[in-house]
Amino acid sequence: AVNLQKTDMTLETRSTGAEIVERVAKARASFRGGRTRDVSWRRAQLKALKRLLKEEESAIFEALWADLRKPPLEGYLTEVGFVIAEIDDALQHLDRWMKPERTHTSLLAQPGKSWITHDPLGVVLVIGTWNYPVQLLLAPLVGALAGGNAAVLKPSEIAAHTSALMADLVPRHLDPESVAVIQGGADETQALLEERFDLIFFTGGSRVGQIVLEKAARHLTPVVLELGGKSPCLVDRDASLEVAARRIAWGRFSNAGQTCVAPDYVLVHEAVEMELLEHLRAAVTAFYGDDPRTSPDYCRIVNDRNFERLSKMLHDGEVVCGGQAETKERYIAPTILRGVSPDAPVMREEIFGPILPVLAVPSMDAAIEFVADRPSPLALYVFSNDEATQHKVIDRTSSGNACINDVLMHMVVPELPFGGVGESGMGRYHGRWSFETFTHRKGVLAKSTHFDLPVRYPPYSGGHLAL
Ligand code: NAD
Repeated sequence: AVNLQKTDMTLETRSTGAEIVERVAKARASFRGGRTRDVSWRRAQLKALKRLLKEEESAIFEALWADLRKPPLEGYLTEVGFVIAEIDDALQHLDRWMKPERTHTSLLAQPGKSWITHDPLGVVLVIGTWNYPVQLLLAPLVGALAGGNAAVLKPSEIAAHTSALMADLVPRHLDPESVAVIQGGADETQALLEERFDLIFFTGGSRVGQIVLEKAARHLTPVVLELGGKSPCLVDRDASLEVAARRIAWGRFSNAGQTCVAPDYVLVHEAVEMELLEHLRAAVTAFYGDDPRTSPDYCRIVNDRNFERLSKMLHDGEVVCGGQAETKERYIAPTILRGVSPDAPVMREEIFGPILPVLAVPSMDAAIEFVADRPSPLALYVFSNDEATQHKVIDRTSSGNACINDVLMHMVVPELPFGGVGESGMGRYHGRWSFETFTHRKGVLAKSTHFDLPVRYPPYSGGHLAL
């Protein structure tokens, strides 16, 4: 087992300015040369990425443990296995996705044929973050490769072990001319953003998202922003409370709450508040035992800054369970709060940690109002057994994605576009949506030269058209 203070791995080698310029130029030259467009290159790269994930699985689990104390099973389900599923989906459907789509050709353009091709964009930059440091770097890469692009990856320096591992493995397994890894933090990312890319795919917080958008504007580079937000979880009085509690607790406390689509807070019908709290408390004990600190299945907070930020939120309400924090290990207990004021700090920013405020509301209409008063979150969850209620909540609120009677699971349906709206981001990916994001739909018209009607040519006074 690897411990959090592991020292026998090179933690971080920041890329230099010269390396950044050189690797981007190399990726650009490779794209210009045309190799990445070839379907056989795309397939070979996707297969190589799958091999990387399979052959290096144990090194990946070690790095995830060292960065986040992430249990290997969770590492498989949410990182390695997740990306493999994306690769399999891309390999299975690539021919169909790449096939040009014939379209109707209007009378004015006759005689001719028209179709839409999916053009690779060029060189794309993927900026990852630390909470799912493998998935959030490599799942976008699947789309980039399937789309026939060269790619530059910038893993998060905060998950330093995983970053170093990716920098080592990616060039060894993938085409090093076309896929590069740049290591570093804010300075290196800013240096990268000076370069011109054809798409920037960013996952992280809205503060850095704004910087990315501003920098991209100077090159008119399109941007995908996968940001976060406070994803609400509405629980009506008719919901199956025991299952709801288990699913909510799992979604909130996996990865110690450091999940962008985790239920951030619960709005529960006041008639069932106490019952739900009881089930939530029971679920936490069932998952992690009486002392979650000793559970092998419970993660730690990624760094001191986040640990301190979260520690201050622990008493923003009445503590139903948890509330403990231990600095040295960066342990924060799975914590449930009730009686929380909507103005409390814990309700003012995305929590991104293992704290779950539960707020009682008089009705689902009140819950809908509460959500509508706030910025659009990345996900919204509703637990109810009444279809009319489910649809009312989904139809009257805005969120990147929504899930009925479960949390997080919309992520594992590759047919569903994943992404934010409003303050939770722009653009989407997963499955075919990744392919769409990493390609340009180019409309093409092919004309015959057999007929050339003179009406469109000047001089217009020739009387061809009687206006
Ligand atoms: P962050 O925004 O600080 O970092 C993300 C990336 O930006 C890192 O690679 C980092 O090196 C780089 N970066 C940091 N500061 C920079 C600067 N000044 N200039 C240029 N680049 C800089 O990440 P965070 O805020 O710790 O991440 C958590 C947020 O990410 C949460 O809001 C979470 O909801 C969101 N998130 C979203 C998704 C999603 O899929 N939508 C997934 C995971 C996390």
